Amino acid sequence: MDKKFAEKYERIKKRYKPVIPYSEKLNEEEEKLNELLKKIIKEADSLYSVNDPYGIIEWKDDEDIHPKLYDFCYRLPKGGDLHAHDNTMIPLDKFTDIIIEYAMISLSGNTKGNLYTVFSADLPADAIKISEAIEKGILSREKLMDMLVISDDKEENGYWHRLEQLFSATGDFYNDIYIMEKIWEEGFRSCCEKGIILVEVRDWGSEDDLMNIIRDNTIREAYYRVRREYPDFLVRLIGCSGKDSENSVESSCETLRSMIRVSRIVKDEFDPEDPQDFIIGLDLGNEEDNSRPLSLYAQFLMSEEVRNSSLKLYLHCGESLRRENDSVVDAYIMDSYRVGHAMNLYRFPDLMKEYAKRKTAIEVCLMSNYRLGYVRDLRMHPALQYMISGIPISLCSDDGLFMTRAPMVDDFYSAIVCWDLNLGDIKALCRNSIIYSGLSDKEISRLMDAWQRQWNSFVSKQIKALES
Ligand SMILES: [Zn+2]
Repeated sequence: MDKKFAEKYERIKKRYKPVIPYSEKLNEEEEKLNELLKKIIKEADSLYSVNDPYGIIEWKDDEDIHPKLYDFCYRLPKGGDLHAHDNTMIPLDKFTDIIIEYAMISLSGNTKGNLYTVFSADLPADAIKISEAIEKGILSREKLMDMLVISDDKEENGYWHRLEQLFSATGDFYNDIYIMEKIWEEGFRSCCEKGIILVEVRDWGSEDDLMNIIRDNTIREAYYRVRREYPDFLVRLIGCSGKDSENSVESSCETLRSMIRVSRIVKDEFDPEDPQDFIIGLDLGNEEDNSRPLSLYAQFLMSEEVRNSSLKLYLHCGESLRRENDSVVDAYIMDSYRVGHAMNLYRFPDLMKEYAKRKTAIEVCLMSNYRLGYVRDLRMHPALQYMISGIPISLCSDDGLFMTRAPMVDDFYSAIVCWDLNLGDIKALCRNSIIYSGLSDKEISRLMDAWQRQWNSFVSKQIKALES
C-alpha cells in the first residue's frame, strides 16, 4: 500500500472506533494496573474460541478460567450488589454447609430432592438427615450441590420451571427463621469477603405486618453481626411482592402496603445515635413472560400512599425478549428510581434516551440472564449498548445461589472478558453501585470514602500480584 494512501485510509478509519463504555479517569498507579490488566484480559479471552458463544463459568470446569483475572475479580472492591434476593444471595458452597448441618432430604418419589427442616409439618416418610445420608454413603456433598443447580442438561421444561422447582425444593426452609438467620448471616459475610460493601436485598414480604417485622428484624440481626466484623458494611431492604397468578393484584398491593408500614418501624439502628432507613423501596417480581403486566399495579404504585411513603420504586421490568412486553415503559412512567434487568429496553430506542437523560440505573444480572436463557452469548448482552448510550448500569447477582458458584465474582469476570472493559470502566461500574444506591446522600458519601480506601489498597496489591 503506498504511504499517502495508507495515511488517508487510516485517517478515515479512525473516525469509527469501537466505543469504550464510560471510563473513569485513571491516576498514574491505576494506569499501570490498566496496562497489566489488558494483558491478562487478552490471555483470558484467548481461552475461548471466537466461534463458541461465551457462556458461563461452569461449576466443575476450571480450565477456561484465567487464575490471575479470577483473583482480580474476587478481590475487586465491587461497591454494592443492588439486586440480590433475600433467600438466594448465599453462595452454594456455604448454603450446602448449612443444610448438611440442619436439613433433612427426601431421596425418592415425587418429593425427591426436596429439603426439610426437622420441624416440618410435611415431612415425607423417607426423609433422612442429610448428614446421616452422607455418612451412610447414600448421598455425597457433590451430588447434593448438583441437585441445586440449574444446568443445560436438566432443563427439558425450561429454565424458569427449574428455578421454580428449586424454590419449592428449598421452600420449607424459608419458614424456619432460625435456619434463615444463618443463611442470611453467611450470605452477608460472603459478600464482605468478596469486596461487597453494600447489599440492597429484595425482601419477599407477606400481607402480615407481624411476619414481616419478625423476618426483617432477623435479617437485621444477621446484618448487625456481620457489620461488627466489617464496620463499613451496609444492608438495605426493598420490600417485594409477586406478579404471578398465585397472588391477586389486590393482595400484592396489600403486601407492599404492609412493607410501607413496617418501614416506619424497623430501622437500621446499628449506630443508635444516627438511625437510618432499613427498608428503602418497593418492587414486584416473578417471571414476566408468565405473569401479570406491571401496568396493572400502576394505580397503586403511583398513588399518594406510595409517593408519600419515602420508599422509592426499584421495579423488575423488561426481563423478557418479547416485543409485547413493555414493562420498561411502565417503569419509566412510574418513575422507578432504578430498574432490574431491562433486557428488552433495546427494542425502545426513544425510551433508551430517556433512561440515559433521567439517569435511571439498570441492575444488570449477567449470570442470571444467561442461566435463565435470555442470552446465549454474553458478548451480545444488551447492557453493553446501554453503557455506551450513557445509561448507568451496575452488576448484580439476582438469585446467585442457583445461578453460579461465585455470584458477583463470575458476573464481573464475564463482563470484563466479554465487553473488553478497561480499569476505568470497571471503576465506573463499582462506583455506580454506590452512586445509584438507595442510600441517603450522607451515607453515599461515607460509603464512597470507604470504597475509595479499599480501591487504593486493591490497586497497589494487584500491581504487585500481576507483576510477579
Ligand atoms: Zn430479580
